[in-house]
Amino acid sequence: MIVDAEGVKASNGYDLAHETQTDIMDSSGSLANKLRNIVVRNLQLILIIVGVVCGFIIGLPLNSHVQSSNYDVEERRRIVILVGFVGEVFVRLLKLLIIPLIITSIVLAVASLDTKTTGKLGRRTFTYYLSTTVIAVIIGVILVLSIRPGDTAVQHEKSQASHVDALDSILDMIRNIFPDNLVETTFRSSQTSYKDDVTSLYNISIPDRNIRGSVENLTKFLENNLYDPWSVNETSLDVRVIKKNSRKVWAKIEKTDRMNVLGIITCSIVFGIALSKLGPEGKPVKELLEVCLKIVMMLINAVMWVCPFGICSLITANLVEMENIAKTFESLAYFIVTAIAGTAIQGMIVYPTIYFISTRKNPLRYLFNMQAAAYTAFGTSSSAATLPVTLKCVKELNNVDSRVAHFVLPIGATVNMDGTALYEAVACIFVAQLNGYHFGIGKILITVLSSSAASVGAAAIPSAGLVTLIMVLEAAGLPTSDVGLLYSVDWFMDRLRTVCNVIGDAIGCVVIEKFSRKDLHDDEYSPL
Ligand code: ASP
Repeated sequence: MIVDAEGVKASNGYDLAHETQTDIMDSSGSLANKLRNIVVRNLQLILIIVGVVCGFIIGLPLNSHVQSSNYDVEERRRIVILVGFVGEVFVRLLKLLIIPLIITSIVLAVASLDTKTTGKLGRRTFTYYLSTTVIAVIIGVILVLSIRPGDTAVQHEKSQASHVDALDSILDMIRNIFPDNLVETTFRSSQTSYKDDVTSLYNISIPDRNIRGSVENLTKFLENNLYDPWSVNETSLDVRVIKKNSRKVWAKIEKTDRMNVLGIITCSIVFGIALSKLGPEGKPVKELLEVCLKIVMMLINAVMWVCPFGICSLITANLVEMENIAKTFESLAYFIVTAIAGTAIQGMIVYPTIYFISTRKNPLRYLFNMQAAAYTAFGTSSSAATLPVTLKCVKELNNVDSRVAHFVLPIGATVNMDGTALYEAVACIFVAQLNGYHFGIGKILITVLSSSAASVGAAAIPSAGLVTLIMVLEAAGLPTSDVGLLYSVDWFMDRLRTVCNVIGDAIGCVVIEKFSRKDLHDDEYSPL
């Protein structure tokens, strides 16, 4: 056998080449495998991101098409409904899960802790909520006072805003915390309503029916001059002339068609405490609720597959609905920049810092795992609708203690809204600047307090912050008519503040878990 150097080389070379080839194939195979694994593991998230991007890609050209075509109002409404239909179904599915999720979550979380631990958890939760909300408002105030967006904004037509009274809002909140009917909490809540303040001026009796033409003329004249239409009694032609005053007066406490989440939370906490006190006797109920919660979590997983289509549809419909997007944004550019900067500081600096200080860990991983919740919040503009997804991310991806997640998140979604608080503070001082009001330290303090309180009172639904903003404006003695101007950009700003609200709740879970570790460890029974 001739084995020359070349031969050895050749042989070795082949082997080497073969090995290298196999290596390459292996490594490319493993690379492909790795990539496939990453895609499979993150499929839901990737699809959600694709959904958001597609929403913009489809929505923007569709918006210019709809704006440039001669569609009438009815046709436009139909297009928006059709485009947003999948999104509507998605939000309905999420909302459907809210009540079973909140009830099973809170009852089980509270029942698995002793009363002392629940109390401690509650105190820590509220301390966290209060601190981050005040930090958010202060950031907003500092930014709006430095950038002064109100000095550059274009004045718009004023609109008539509804009336919101600070004291009545607080009383409504307390009323809702103590519901009078358990079943009703699932679909109605209490709210003080107001009516026009009218002065009855005079009653006229017109005996001759032939002068009805003059009555119509007179009606038109009175309407144009701020008088309410006539109340014409057709048989006798008795008319009462009333004058509508600009202010509103207290009417009654009515029940609005909105779920009373605060009431559901109170009832669940009380039920959970009683169940925990029952001890072993309550075990069957705990086990039943445990199974219910498992079912709810399974359903949430199923609904998550609709999420990419839902978000895409919601964003597209929202964009199609908009009239002259560029112009609206241009006239409020500085205000939008100020609010976005504040929200970004809260989301990208304050929360990660709080996370790092509490855990000494890299916050990026935690935030990365919250992406699905962030996109859902962006798509739905509702912390309540996002709750199932937030819970899934916090529990399953970030491995936060279930008892903490189940206790902190439903309460957080309802009362902790840092993004909303920041936005309201910025908007309030913006309106003051726009109208040339001087804002001293006293007024700033009122803004800080009322924005924080208003964010607690805001419902976790789209544009709720805009309603409570009226209360902040009234507390600061500012005109409420500019809310209409802010409404034009709220479809976008609401999405950003909802993302901030949801991330704030998620970070709260880690902080509270960290400070409650010893107490949680002491509790031996944990069905969650
Ligand atoms: N949409 C927000 C939320 O659900 C509330 C708001 O309008 O600020 O968190």
